Amino acid sequence: MKNISVIGSGTMGNGIAHVFAQSGFKVNLIDVSAEALDRAMKTIEKNLDRMVAKEKIDEAAKANTLANISTFTDMKAGVADADLVVEAATENVTIKLKIFTDLDQFTKPSCILASNTSSIPITKIGAATKRPDKVIGMHFMNPVPVMRLVEVIRGYATSSEVTSLIMETSKKLGKVPVEVNDYPGFIANRILMPMINEAIISLFEGVAGVEEIDTVMKLGMAHPMGPLQLADFIGLDVCLSIMNVLYEGFGNPKYAPCPLLVNMVTAGYLGVKSGEGFYSWNHGTKDLVVSKQFTK
Ligand code: NAD
Repeated sequence: MKNISVIGSGTMGNGIAHVFAQSGFKVNLIDVSAEALDRAMKTIEKNLDRMVAKEKIDEAAKANTLANISTFTDMKAGVADADLVVEAATENVTIKLKIFTDLDQFTKPSCILASNTSSIPITKIGAATKRPDKVIGMHFMNPVPVMRLVEVIRGYATSSEVTSLIMETSKKLGKVPVEVNDYPGFIANRILMPMINEAIISLFEGVAGVEEIDTVMKLGMAHPMGPLQLADFIGLDVCLSIMNVLYEGFGNPKYAPCPLLVNMVTAGYLGVKSGEGFYSWNHGTKDLVVSKQFTK
C-alpha cells in the first residue's frame, strides 16, 4: 500500500489527504472543482503550520507532507496507480454510485475502494462494482488530523483480507480503527444521532431550554459540548438526513426525526453553516447566544 487517491477535497477529503501524506503515503487528491483543491491545499498548509507552532511536527515534516500530495481534477489520471482509493465526495447516493462505477473501470483490479460515507450502505456501494469484496467503509471523524477514530465498515461482501489490510493501514496513520458491520448509521451515528434527536424532542416538549439541555450533558456526562451545540456544528440538515436513514433502514418509529428538527431544516435554520440553529453563530463560539427562536 503506497499510492493513495482521495476523491473529494472538502472538509473530510483534505483532512484524509493530510493524514495519509503525513504518514509517508503518496497522495493524489482529486476534486471536480479546481477551486476546492486550492482551498484544500491552503487548509492543509494552515493545519500543518498549527502543528509546527505547537511543536508536534517540524518544518521538514511539514515540507514532506506537502510534497507527498498532488492534485487532480481528472479522476481517471488521478487513480491510475492507486493501491487504495478513499472516496470523500458529497454525501449523495447518485454521485457516489457513479464514482464507484467509474473507479471500478479506472483503477487496477487489485485496488481497494473505500468510502468515508456517513450513512450510505457500503454493501450498496460495493454492489455497484465488480469487486464488492474490495469495497469497504473508512469512516473518519471531523477534524480528521485530530480525531483518532476510524470506523471500518465491513460490507456484506467485503473480504476478511481487505478488512485486515484497512485496519492495519488505519493504524499506520496513528488512528484507532474499530471494525463494525454494515447496518444503518453503523455505530457512531446510530448512537450519536438518536441522542441529538432526543435532545431536540426534550426542547420541543418544553422539558428544558437549549442551554439547560446542553449544560446537563456537558457537566453531567462530561461531554465536551452539549448535543444541541453539536447538532449546530454538524448541520441540522445532515442530522435530519441521517435520522431518516435510520428511520427508513430499521422501519422503527423510535428513530422518527423530531418535528422541530424537520421544521428548522425546512426553514433554513441549519446551524453554524447558515448562521443560526439552536444558537446564533454570528457571535462566535466563545460567546454562545441561544437563538431568538428559543429565548423566552
Ligand atoms: P464537502 O461538501 O465539504 O466536500 C465534498 C467535496 O466533494 C466537494 O469539494 C465537491 O466538489 C467534491 N465532489 C463532488 N462530486 C465529486 C466527484 N464526482 N468527484 C470528485 N469530487 C467531487 O463534504 P464533506 O463534509 O467533506 O463530506 C464528504 C463525505 O464525508 C460525505 O460522504 C460525508 O457523509 C462524509 N463525512 C462527513 C463528516 C463531516 O463532519 N463533514 C464526517 C464524517 C463523514
